[in-house]
Amino acid sequence: MTPQATFHVNIPDNSLSGGSWNDAFIRAMQDWTDLTRFEFSVISEFVEPCIGRGGDTFGDEKSSTNFTDTVCGTDYGENVLAVTLATLTCQDPDCTGTLIIEESDIVFNDAERWDIYSGPIQGITIDFERVALHELGHVIGLDHEATNDAIMRATLTDFGSLQTDDINGANFIYGGDVSLESIYGFEIKLPEPGPLEEQENTINISGSLTDSDASVNDSAIDIYQLTFAQDTSITVDLNSSDFDPLLYLVRIDSTQTPIEKFVFSDDNSGVGSAARIVQDIPAGTYWFGATGVTSGSEGDYSITLSSLAASIEGALEEYQTIYGAEVQINPNPFIYGDLRNSDFRFEDKFMDIYQFTVKAETDMRFDLISDDFDTVLLLVEVLEDQSLGSLVLVNDDNIFGTNSRIEYSLPPGTYWKGVTSFAIGENGDYRINVSVNVN
Ligand SMILES: [Zn+2]
Repeated sequence: MTPQATFHVNIPDNSLSGGSWNDAFIRAMQDWTDLTRFEFSVISEFVEPCIGRGGDTFGDEKSSTNFTDTVCGTDYGENVLAVTLATLTCQDPDCTGTLIIEESDIVFNDAERWDIYSGPIQGITIDFERVALHELGHVIGLDHEATNDAIMRATLTDFGSLQTDDINGANFIYGGDVSLESIYGFEIKLPEPGPLEEQENTINISGSLTDSDASVNDSAIDIYQLTFAQDTSITVDLNSSDFDPLLYLVRIDSTQTPIEKFVFSDDNSGVGSAARIVQDIPAGTYWFGATGVTSGSEGDYSITLSSLAASIEGALEEYQTIYGAEVQINPNPFIYGDLRNSDFRFEDKFMDIYQFTVKAETDMRFDLISDDFDTVLLLVEVLEDQSLGSLVLVNDDNIFGTNSRIEYSLPPGTYWKGVTSFAIGENGDYRINVSVNVN
């Protein structure tokens, strides 16, 4: 299902410099729609955003926007330019499932001096369009970004358009072609499809090496991350008519560290000067690096990957703990699973446990996401005798809703990630995304 929201938009009048508020707001919606999987649509009708707002009421089921004197009855705080008011509703009568955004109203502080412009901030005159982009980001479920260039920074910047971090944030929530930064400082691309769960997969990727890419040994390199859910036989071809291609295949652990036993490279095994790797690989997460044999290689290339899983059952190591729970040894940064009625129960709630190991202190972020149930994520240190160490972290709801997030600088050790639900008896699909925070 495509994640979407419909806004009633027809803000009267034009800005000081003549641009239409209406057009600017619609452009901001269109930018999110064009660049992410989230789709905004517009109904060209003015609806007062504060209808049904204020006190303990929850809107009129119509998302809309306008300039207002107050946040529907409450004063705008100091320096508050705009506010997004969201109404979330339950999907089921017991309200145990994921909340859905029923209605979002965006109000802009009428006391500010507004205009519409691009480029650097112009004194106290505020660009309406970038604030609209920011508030629509909140509608999507994004929070403020503290580090990277982003429309979602808490304060206005000279950027008037969606930045890579904004797009990645939306794609992280809703799926899509995401990139993330590695601990080595270069960008990792996560192409569609996500984890390869089918028995047979073929993936075609086209890209180009440019001098602005990350470089390894003075050669530009593009790196793609793919996760194989089962032990798999793969054939990967890297072709280019612009340069002599060199292909890398590296298995990585949960802290993005290469696992030495699984580092492969090839220069000429393909047709002509093309690179090809044919390999049986264990389930896990891998980086595919596309680069050139000579330094300064630039130009277009294509990668074709075909894979055949040994079986469609998971093949990562499983064992039973002294507590009676099944544990899967799974260092993958991306794990897809499901809570089932047959799972181990902890306090009457179903639970899946994954073990991973951290070799050096690493600043990590764990997101547990489910459309089916209100997630609870546990992270515990386990000692060699399977007793629990002193580090125990639990998160029920992150700031976006009922999904869970834990961020922590983990010391070296062995850990269990526990996936369970907030309410008794809930089950369904989930995914865990682990990323390494880079400062
Ligand atoms: Zn904000």
